[in-house]
Amino acid sequence: MPEGSGTIVVIEDDPAIADLVDMYLRREGFRVIQASSGEDGLEVTARERPRLVVLDVGLPERMDGLEVCRALRATSDVPVVILTARDSEVDRIIGLELGADDYVTKPFSPRELVARIKAILRRAEPSSRRDQAMLRVGEVEIDTQRHEVRVLGAPVALTAREFDLLSFLAEHEGLVLSRRQLLDGVWGVGWVGDDRTVDVHVRQLRKKLGTALPLSTIWGVGYRLG
Ligand code: CA
Repeated sequence: MPEGSGTIVVIEDDPAIADLVDMYLRREGFRVIQASSGEDGLEVTARERPRLVVLDVGLPERMDGLEVCRALRATSDVPVVILTARDSEVDRIIGLELGADDYVTKPFSPRELVARIKAILRRAEPSSRRDQAMLRVGEVEIDTQRHEVRVLGAPVALTAREFDLLSFLAEHEGLVLSRRQLLDGVWGVGWVGDDRTVDVHVRQLRKKLGTALPLSTIWGVGYRLG
């Protein structure tokens, strides 16, 4: 997942602080859901499966932030950043070994909080195959930045669509993809066309890449690369 995307849940009862954090995270491209109590926060987190939770220690009503953190940890390994009002709380948080990933002490700089969040997300989610510049399947090398394909070092000219189809198959190496999934992923959801479009492009890829391309036809379903 790209750095500034996905959902972050902010559990904080002070609307001024929640809105400020919300604004900074949105500016970075995240989708933000606010919850003003621990109970709401747990419910939203279970439902939305966010990439990260920002959690205030001092929450009203039944559950304080520490209890929320404990409850989160019981069911999920979502990264948690704790907001604490006082330095004196920090020792307690660390002492309790709640499994929070980081904390900031109020008053905090939103910029600093965003930087910490990004660092945690980078640690938590090693770059996926999709983010790699170079994909290799069999004897085929796909340079996704330069839009080049090579077989044993020799460049092979593909059309843009053939290139996209090959990259998509390589990103899902080892998985059987239906023609519909390939149409949605390569041509775009809502593209009006025939399943045979996929077959035509696959035929072209096979012609150009030959036996270097370990592509299997899965009868009645679609294709699998690798
Ligand atoms: Ca509070």
